[in-house]
Amino acid sequence: MRRSSDELNKMRKAGKVVAEMHEVTRAAIAPGVTTAHLNELAAQVLERRGARSNFLGYHGFPAVICTSPNDMIVHGIPGEYVLQEGDIISVDCGAIIEGYHGDAAYSAGVGEISALATRLLQVTERSLWAGIDQLVAGTRLHEVGRAVQDVAEAAGFSVVREYVGHAIGTAMHESPQVPNYWPGSPGPTLKTGMVFAIEPMVNVGGPDTYMLDDGWSVLTSDHSLSAHFEHTIAVTENGPEVFTVA
Ligand code: MG
Ligand code: MG
Repeated sequence: MRRSSDELNKMRKAGKVVAEMHEVTRAAIAPGVTTAHLNELAAQVLERRGARSNFLGYHGFPAVICTSPNDMIVHGIPGEYVLQEGDIISVDCGAIIEGYHGDAAYSAGVGEISALATRLLQVTERSLWAGIDQLVAGTRLHEVGRAVQDVAEAAGFSVVREYVGHAIGTAMHESPQVPNYWPGSPGPTLKTGMVFAIEPMVNVGGPDTYMLDDGWSVLTSDHSLSAHFEHTIAVTENGPEVFTVA
């Protein structure tokens, strides 16, 4: 769907709130901190900015962010988990302003992390930006997945298949989906005013996943490390515009 300039302005505002949630939670990441504390800090940003949460209550999700350590890929529920030196933690944040949604995620190290973990974070973030570069009017949407996959697999890593990016606007998850791999067809042609959440999930090992009994937490089947980076981006006359940056 193509958004009007008024709608894009609201999404810009929602994106700024999400960027602030990133800033505040990232600054608090340290050994000894609980994921519940990160959730509290993010909730304070929403409150301060007069934004609503698109995560809280989503199919019953109990928090305003997702926190997914180490071999957890996405959708972890913040709680009593205490961050440990050497962990990596993925933090996914969202906000609604005047009915319009922003959605973005990052992964970060806790204290000193291994060379492999450092490389995973770098490659996953690079794969996100390679995908974002494809968000140009006239390009076919599924070039995003091809670009993401190329970067991840060239580094010897794999991309998750079961969870994908999405269009975003008056709902967090709108059609079409945006796979992080080449799905075998080129997808719709991009037009200005379209907005997407691009979100590679990259594993050190294989792409397979399983879910915990909590019905949310998704992990790598081989327990290898996983990272997740996401932004909300509009296709504009001047190329991709990332909304979820400060
Ligand atoms: Mg997200
Ligand atoms: Mg998303």
